[in-house]
Amino acid sequence: MNTPRRARILATLGPASSSPERIQALVQAGADVFRLNFSHGTHEDHAARHQAIREIEQALGRPIGILMDLQGPKLRIGRIAGGKTILQAGASFRLDLDPADGDETRASLPHPEIFDAMESGTDLLLDDGKLRLRVERHGTDYAETTVMVGGALSDRKGVNVPGVILPISPLTAKDREDLAFGLSLGVDWVALSFVQRPEDIDEARALVGDRAWIMAKLEKPSAIEHLDAIIERADGLMVARGDLGVELPPQRVPILQQRIVRRARAAGKPVVVATQMLESMVGAPVPTRAEASDVATAVYSGADAVMLSAESASGQYPVEAVSIMQHIIHEVEQDPSWRTGLEASHSPAAANVPDAICCALRRVAGLLEPAATIAYTASGFSALRASRERPSTPILALTPDANVARRLALAWGVHPMHFPAQLQEASEMIARATDAARQAGLASAGDTVIVVAGLPFGHSGSTNLLHIAQVPVPASAAPS
Ligand code: PGA
Ligand code: MN
Repeated sequence: MNTPRRARILATLGPASSSPERIQALVQAGADVFRLNFSHGTHEDHAARHQAIREIEQALGRPIGILMDLQGPKLRIGRIAGGKTILQAGASFRLDLDPADGDETRASLPHPEIFDAMESGTDLLLDDGKLRLRVERHGTDYAETTVMVGGALSDRKGVNVPGVILPISPLTAKDREDLAFGLSLGVDWVALSFVQRPEDIDEARALVGDRAWIMAKLEKPSAIEHLDAIIERADGLMVARGDLGVELPPQRVPILQQRIVRRARAAGKPVVVATQMLESMVGAPVPTRAEASDVATAVYSGADAVMLSAESASGQYPVEAVSIMQHIIHEVEQDPSWRTGLEASHSPAAANVPDAICCALRRVAGLLEPAATIAYTASGFSALRASRERPSTPILALTPDANVARRLALAWGVHPMHFPAQLQEASEMIARATDAARQAGLASAGDTVIVVAGLPFGHSGSTNLLHIAQVPVPASAAPS
């Protein structure tokens, strides 16, 4: 039996990956969760991708997660005539509120707040810091700048103003509209961009309720200052290295990546390492060795998921990128030092019943080497606490809630399965669970499995049962 992969793959959809055939190829190559990036594309684009994913999910019979990523208060320039222009170092370049297409002399920057907050001498970074403009003069609706570092500038590229705190709400009017739309489609996760304070999560939670889990993207210096409080309030975290490495010096990124992964793992909240993981695959069928090593580093550190952005959304090799990522993860997870590293970076369980059960699960798994752990979970809680332990067995999460199954597709080592039956009896649950593990290909007849659940069923946070079971020989295969 093939050992299933533990780290998950989150792939962004875009123009290069919109057709149902292409999305299906991405799933087959290893994508577990898809990101709909609301910084790009129309509602119709996202609705079509959402529908395609749900149809593929139905056809393949396994839950696929969908994460909607809200643009947040990210500043972006408007469109450029022909989609792209070149800015020459030393040239003058104007930013203003005129919605007309830009060219090599000007572009629209449709954010009046930024013109108020800037000063002469302020540096504006474009396209993840690749281009740099210095403000010479500005009014309330324009800025005249000098191009300090030039290069290609295309439609809707981002603008960062490091060191200037912009008085902008964490959810823009566009975010609120997009959020209502995404929730009406039925997305499983909502990612919040440019989170600055723990209260930003509460503001989103008030709108989202329990319709989706909330992921905080960590890409602002102020979010790092409030890291623990943000981790506590969010359901998941993203190390959003693109903007993080523009807002802070790039040499801070690896240190913060390790810190965020460690703290998120300690809290048992799924954590995604994102951006530029296989960047060169936007235009090449193989990654650089440094990129392969970057993906491997995230996997060794025990991150729940690694993410592809342009590689899968707009690059020339989206399926190859997912496939390479899958191969890198697989290789790392065969390495004995991966397991040793996970054990060494494991943080102790809390002194409460669910964590005591999951701590025991890890110990039992290490001693008996069972084929699988099965978590019977209504809210997803038991599965996440089991995943927090990074046990040596795969975790089959059985849940009566299809939405919970999809949300769990992002969690380390978790194989979610929608299991519609509402069960009352532990004995019945154990019988059905071992059967499900066999059908899922995670265990064979006669194998030992561990079952964790909370009795009585249906109450979140009630994990209190650990049972060691044998997978029975199916009736049809038993000698008569
Ligand atoms: P983005 O977020 O791709 O939406 O900017 C990820 C990042 O900043 O790394
Ligand atoms: Mn970002």
